[in-house]
Amino acid sequence: MTGLDDRLKAAIEARRDDLIALTQALVRIPTTNPPGHRYREICDYVDARLKASGFATEFLRAEGTPGDSDRYPRWNIVARREGAKAGDCVHFNGHIDVVEVGHGWTTDPFGGEVRDGRIYGRGTCDMKGGLAAAIVAAEAFIETCPDFAGAIEISGTADEETGGYGGVAYLAERGYFSPDRVSHVIIPEPLNKDRICLGHRGVWWAEIETHGRIAHGSMPFLGDSAIRHMGAVLEEMERWLYPLLAGKRTAMPVVPEGARQSTLNINSIHGGEAEQDADFTGFPAPCVADRCRIVIDRRFLIEEDLGEVKAEIEAMLDRIAAGRPDFSYEIRDLHEVIPTMTDRDAPVVGAVAAAIGKVLGRAPDFVVSPGTYDQKHIDRIGRLKNCIAYGPGILDLAHQPDEWIGIEDMVDSAKVMALTLAELLECPHGDGGSSP
Ligand SMILES: [Zn+2]
Repeated sequence: MTGLDDRLKAAIEARRDDLIALTQALVRIPTTNPPGHRYREICDYVDARLKASGFATEFLRAEGTPGDSDRYPRWNIVARREGAKAGDCVHFNGHIDVVEVGHGWTTDPFGGEVRDGRIYGRGTCDMKGGLAAAIVAAEAFIETCPDFAGAIEISGTADEETGGYGGVAYLAERGYFSPDRVSHVIIPEPLNKDRICLGHRGVWWAEIETHGRIAHGSMPFLGDSAIRHMGAVLEEMERWLYPLLAGKRTAMPVVPEGARQSTLNINSIHGGEAEQDADFTGFPAPCVADRCRIVIDRRFLIEEDLGEVKAEIEAMLDRIAAGRPDFSYEIRDLHEVIPTMTDRDAPVVGAVAAAIGKVLGRAPDFVVSPGTYDQKHIDRIGRLKNCIAYGPGILDLAHQPDEWIGIEDMVDSAKVMALTLAELLECPHGDGGSSP
């Protein structure tokens, strides 16, 4: 234990009330997405806070991205604090949007109530608590090591919950996550204070449509039911595809364990007549369905190739077509994300692991997320591999009613982030705490 580490931990302890207040202030700005409320307001708040700590700030509106309009502008903030001399840049990226409230709350979702060592509210865990911890960690580090080498960046970005196109993707396209600007990226998503998330599985969404011919429901033999054709697709999935996917295991340390294989969800199914509004009291008409559609959500592994994943489904459909009269289908791509995983020996991984050891007295668990988050854009668009998710909060609480974050977890996590900065950025008068 060095003197610097102790001073950083003490500096975080001294900011405990400030960390709580900052989290509450962020939660009290309801940045629900969709549609993307109050992005500018929360950026203004972060701007005032970080300017006071010596950061230069920039506002970027992601004009023309999905959902951006004058009513719901996609605002992002990027703040940068230069050190005393050149060196690496450590970037903390937090998304500023939260999902809808939903039902079942017993506390005010935007109240930020503190009770039993927790802060309650939508976005406490996912991920305003993590953003607040990063801000406090950076401020504590700067005060303790005012002549540090390198730079610290903090960004608050829009739309993570809806794909990140108006947020991290937009910034990455403009070079904000390029290796010539940023060396290390930490995304304080709620992965628990003792876990380092290295990346995520891949995604392919597609719509499959089967075709039929409409006829009177009393004489279905005069038509051709698209729903029965889709039934054949579902049956083949049960018989052939699901067992095949269950057999594909990954070396990625995905949590929970059940996601350590390929998975496929059928997000929706619809065939025949459109569903009527709930207040329609009449009967449906007797018709043979001439269209049936499903949307599939295929999650794939780093060991799999997206082309092969698609070809597998197409081969299955072609096989059905070969054995089933009048079967025809269309398949449409909706969305795709390539899996990403940072190396365990990447610099940011080693630094956070060392800091976790110093703060929590244990080695971290290395995990991979079953679903994607903004790391995809940093990897694919920014071409920056040295990126992880690390932050306080219990992932299972994200998007739930009565979402909360533990104050002790936030404090510990902020200490880990401050010590990580000391690991990655030279601190000349820090009692030898830095070891590049
Ligand atoms: Zn999140």
